[in-house]
Amino acid sequence: MENILDCIIVGSGPSGFTAAIYAARADLKPELYTGLEPGGQLTTTTEVDNFPGYPNGITGPEMMMDLQKQAERFETKVHYEMITKAEFSLERGGIHKLWAGNKELFAKTVIISTGATAKYLGLEDEKKYSGGGVSACATCDGFFYRGKDVIVVGGGDTAAEEATYLSNICNKVTMLVRKDHFRASKAMEKRVENTPNIEVKYFHELVGIEGENSLVERAVVIDNRTQEKSTIDVHGIFIAIGHTPNTSIFEGQINLDDNGYIITEAKSTRTNIPGVFAAGDVQDHLYRQAITAAGSGCMAAMDAEKYLGELK
Ligand SMILES: Cc1cc2nc3c(=O)[nH]c(=O)nc-3n(C[C@H](O)[C@H](O)[C@H](O)COP(=O)(O)OP(=O)(O)OC[C@H]3O[C@@H](n4cnc5c(N)ncnc54)[C@H](O)[C@@H]3O)c2cc1C
Repeated sequence: MENILDCIIVGSGPSGFTAAIYAARADLKPELYTGLEPGGQLTTTTEVDNFPGYPNGITGPEMMMDLQKQAERFETKVHYEMITKAEFSLERGGIHKLWAGNKELFAKTVIISTGATAKYLGLEDEKKYSGGGVSACATCDGFFYRGKDVIVVGGGDTAAEEATYLSNICNKVTMLVRKDHFRASKAMEKRVENTPNIEVKYFHELVGIEGENSLVERAVVIDNRTQEKSTIDVHGIFIAIGHTPNTSIFEGQINLDDNGYIITEAKSTRTNIPGVFAAGDVQDHLYRQAITAAGSGCMAAMDAEKYLGELK
């Protein structure tokens, strides 16, 4: 085993780069692997208005470049490569092995910050109107639709939560639920039913989007009982059918919950593997924000530094 690093960070979203800033400043000489989406999810959005420290907002790509520059200022080594395999040691103080293609990597600590990917329906129009009214995050983008009419697609807890959140900001929220019932908990379902400006359309699905200049003006929906199409005038369409955590390469190596999210110990980023920490959306199906991801990236670097200190 050559070149055993103190810390490898997998992922280059807000959690990965924040972990890098803290790990580098603690002299762990971290090496960060960006994966296929350098900068993470925020590189797919135009406006980020809720990250503290940017009074006028900032575009997602610019913000991620700032985070990367800050991590590199403290000499984080950034590799534009994907980690393809992991073999974790179960021993405290053991050496973890990762692969970037054929390249073998060894580290005393690993910070996993591979994020989660929002699920979409797979419609061409979702891509066309992305950034022009289609979103997968009400907390991120709801504010842009204040006083307007929006649609939420989905019938689970996430959709019910997104709809109730939006109902406080928007004029009217129409929920499209494919079946004749919600998959959400009874409590969430009740909350939706008791909210006057949410209308639930059961048996309805989104099949298209219309609008000039790639800005959403209408949703094309279908009643799946009759196949009858109709349109609903809206400015925003929130797809709330869940997320997929990017953990497939860690399956069998680390404890995951039923939905594939990495399980961390309460109030820490520790996983069940000594020396392996998880930060950001990959271990958080609840908050899923850049600032919470960044916060847990800071925690992961501090947890890694403490772990290494205790080994000495
Ligand atoms: C369109 C959109 C708009 C959003 N707007 C906002 C907003 O305005 N405000 C806000 O707070 N939040 C917003 N969010 C949510 C925010 O982007 C996420 O909460 C945040 O990016 C999560 O950060 P993360 O570091 O956990 O992971 P991510 O940003 O998901 O990054 C994951 C990283 O892991 C890498 N990776 C994955 N697998 C591997 C692998 N095998 N090897 C190496 N690297 C790997 C990827 O390449 C990527 O760099 C938005 C999300 C989307 C999709």
